Amino acid sequence: MSLNDSWMRRDLAVLWHPCTQMKDHEQLPLIPIRRGEGVWLEDFDGKRYLDAVSSWWVNVFGHANPRINQRIKDQLDQLEHVMLAGFSHQPVVELSERLVALTPPGLERVFYTDNGSTGIEVALKMSFHYWRNSGRPRKQRFVTLTNSYHGETVAAMSVGDVALFTDTYKPLLLDTLKVPSPDCYLRPEGMSWEEHSRHMFAHMEQTLAEHHEEVAAVIVEPLIQGAGGMRMYHPIYLKLLREACDRYEVHLIHDEIAVGFGRTGTMFACEQAGISPDFLCLSKALTGGYLPMAAVLTTDRLYQAFYDDYSTLRAFLHSHTYTGNPLACAAALATLDIFAEDNVIEANKALAARMASATAHLAEHPHVAEVRQTGMALAIEMVQDKASKTAYPWQERRGLQVYQHALERGALLRPLGSVVYFLPPYTITPEQIDFLAEVASEGIDIATRAAVSVALQPGAPSNFHDPG
Ligand SMILES: *Cc1c(COP(=O)(O)O)cnc(C)c1O
Repeated sequence: MSLNDSWMRRDLAVLWHPCTQMKDHEQLPLIPIRRGEGVWLEDFDGKRYLDAVSSWWVNVFGHANPRINQRIKDQLDQLEHVMLAGFSHQPVVELSERLVALTPPGLERVFYTDNGSTGIEVALKMSFHYWRNSGRPRKQRFVTLTNSYHGETVAAMSVGDVALFTDTYKPLLLDTLKVPSPDCYLRPEGMSWEEHSRHMFAHMEQTLAEHHEEVAAVIVEPLIQGAGGMRMYHPIYLKLLREACDRYEVHLIHDEIAVGFGRTGTMFACEQAGISPDFLCLSKALTGGYLPMAAVLTTDRLYQAFYDDYSTLRAFLHSHTYTGNPLACAAALATLDIFAEDNVIEANKALAARMASATAHLAEHPHVAEVRQTGMALAIEMVQDKASKTAYPWQERRGLQVYQHALERGALLRPLGSVVYFLPPYTITPEQIDFLAEVASEGIDIATRAAVSVALQPGAPSNFHDPG
């Protein structure tokens, strides 16, 4: 038995993996990883895989990055952890100062949690609580976009709309207001991204006009709806949304958990709209992909509505045990140093252009409806019928064939349903981008050529993005 097989067996005897139908592993081998270096992951049999999805969108400067490693090792000898209520430490103060300085104006307070979903919970709870503290207790509801994703905890699911993740739990969810997404994949032919996103804003305007007195906040994934299939829209929408939120006295929550830290071509997506949200949620790449941590930045105005004598009970009494973990802060500080020292945002422009040129030919593929890109995120949408953009039935799992082909060729490409995408570490080389494009092309040919017969269930939701 190979080493891979033996680790796989031990794993499958005791583990329950995330976002996985475990029965799939009767056919689909699990890949035990022994080590990582740069963009490469290596399994126990010595096979290497180019990590084209940054290990679920977290890894921006490669695996086992010497600079981040060193910073964590140094911190480890000083302080591994201390509770953050009543106590503080150097890395958390430094990181908070850096984040306040780096993010758009007005975001002056940082609250930490230990993953993205709980960061979203904090923003939702703070917004709700702010209105209560400000004598406007009717403002309790949240407005969200169709096809959005904000995490897996119950309130975070409530503001999400990817059916695969939320449908089962509907009876548990908060009653939110859903507004059609400005997603430009769905724009009429001949219309620009900007025109379409501007046009779609009418729905948001109408919802806010009708409901603003009961709405606490609008939450969006700026520019890219990630888990919803890497669907993209124009920054004009964010600008219009900021203006409307001001007019209607509603908070604006930017979930930049996936897009923050350079993914869209600017450090934060909101910079492209020239706006500051009331809440900015960050996680994933925050620690360079090393340790779980999220940060929720907000304004002084928000903060002041909670600041009072203890007995008024206006405080935000929310905590997670590992809040502000010093090792995670050290990883984040090292990550921010690399952004500054290596002028990463500027250097990424050439890589983004290479991603575009290496995949441009795929737009002509008979089963590709669109190749779209925002900065360092590029997505290729496979369809059954190109002219009408008719999706493949989700049960056919076409993306899974691309995934399997890529593994054989030494790349980790994990499509979202029929959407093949690259979200690589920023340390990828132009030649490695060409390699990924080649592997993706081959995979798409294989996946779209095959006749797949499956029993189709009627009435399945249309945005059923199977991540496997
Ligand atoms: C990943 C993600 C989350 C949830 O983060 P977790 O750390 O997985 O809980 C929330 N919002 C967006 C946009 C994400 O991509």
